[in-house]
Amino acid sequence: MAYIDLLIEKFPIRKNKAQKESFRSWVVAEAEKLGYTAQVEKKGSSNNVVIGDADNAEAIFTAHYDTPPVMPVPNFITPCNVLVYLLYQIVLTVLIIGVGAGLGVLAGVLVGALSGDWDVGAMVGSLGSMIAMWALIILMMFGPANKNNANDNTSGVASVLETMARIPAENRGKVAFILFDNEEKGMLGSSAFASKHKQVKKQTLLVNMDCVGLGENILFFSPKKARNHAHYEKLMAAVNAQQGRPVEWFNMEGHLYPSDQSQFKCGIAICSCKKAKVIGYYCDRIHTKHDTIADAGNIALIADGLAAFAQSL
Ligand SMILES: [Zn+2]
Repeated sequence: MAYIDLLIEKFPIRKNKAQKESFRSWVVAEAEKLGYTAQVEKKGSSNNVVIGDADNAEAIFTAHYDTPPVMPVPNFITPCNVLVYLLYQIVLTVLIIGVGAGLGVLAGVLVGALSGDWDVGAMVGSLGSMIAMWALIILMMFGPANKNNANDNTSGVASVLETMARIPAENRGKVAFILFDNEEKGMLGSSAFASKHKQVKKQTLLVNMDCVGLGENILFFSPKKARNHAHYEKLMAAVNAQQGRPVEWFNMEGHLYPSDQSQFKCGIAICSCKKAKVIGYYCDRIHTKHDTIADAGNIALIADGLAAFAQSL
């Protein structure tokens, strides 16, 4: 059984304590079954799964395993079009303020009409607007889990596991893997790891997979320090040798992909995108109930590419 199907069947949600714990103990056992050493590294509220020797690895492959809360509208990302991304964020913010204010005004009018005291109504209205707005924001950040999270980020976790399995046994010691906790709460897991492993933060080539399952275009975003890394050319060569999906390489400068790689100086992001005429590459559906697709072909290409890269080290 492919890891993507297994994860969706056995660990469909990884958000509360018990769900995360049961996933972690399975993944540690699975890594050991493949011949890797694995442990859970706890710092603060985050429990990262570290597979292999991250401090001495030539390269590290990562993905966040936590499940986001569900939202009525997607976290729409256009990594090559920063303007559209920012406009979308602004529209979303205005929408939240508008809905919050609307609810508050409604409460104020109701209280005013029922009590006949419009001063109290006005107070309830303004206070209610603020409370409703903050309630919406908190719900978006800490609300109930998105039961459908095939792309964000079961696809990334499956890519890490497939890569682990596809690297020949004799090459497995050169690389390490990390499954980060709490990306959706503000990259808490990866920032905890980076602060504890300064060498990795500054020097190790790290490839992070977040939302690699929807859209046939496989995009890589690399900051300058990663592009100057001794292993970067090998990574490009190994991935570009794979067939079946269009692969594009972009500089991180002038682009935008908000995920865990940003905590590391040589952190590269991989995502998959659809493409539209005016806005260019985009990720949709994520954080909504429509996040149901994680293409096995995308995962296979990434895993084969990263496994070939590990072999070339
Ligand atoms: Zn994600």
